[in-house]
Amino acid sequence: MPAILTILSTGLPLPTQVFNIRYKFFISSYTMSEDILEAARAIRPYLPELLTAEQAKAIDHQLTQLLTQQDQTKVDNLILDILCSQEPTRQWIDEFLELKLPPTLEKSYQPIPGNLTPVSSVAKYTCPFGDYVWYQRQVGEPIPNCPTHEVPLEKV
Ligand SMILES: [Zn+2]
Repeated sequence: MPAILTILSTGLPLPTQVFNIRYKFFISSYTMSEDILEAARAIRPYLPELLTAEQAKAIDHQLTQLLTQQDQTKVDNLILDILCSQEPTRQWIDEFLELKLPPTLEKSYQPIPGNLTPVSSVAKYTCPFGDYVWYQRQVGEPIPNCPTHEVPLEKV
């Protein structure tokens, strides 16, 4: 195993963290871009749980600006910069890229004995304008509107 993988979470400077995430997953930059955009949409509902209210607001604002840009070809690195700037969001995106699901969601479904709901059946909703993804964590949990566009989310 390359030595760089063993120094993943040692508080390295930002560009190295970003490089490490790309390096770790060995994914072509096209696929990686799509996954990073998806991670940015999906992390937005979790920001208030991961960061202070002030940080969450600032990062959500930055992500929204990038996700609603017409040209999304170069935003993936900027998104990685933003999400790697804080340790809780860096860990979150690292796990999201591996699981293809919000890590908190996966954890909340696993440890409940007798819960037969497979993770794949978790309902996923997106904004029709493509900037927000929301997973329903419990049956009956009310579905929010997109906080950017204030329109109802659509089930995927
Ligand atoms: Zn939206």
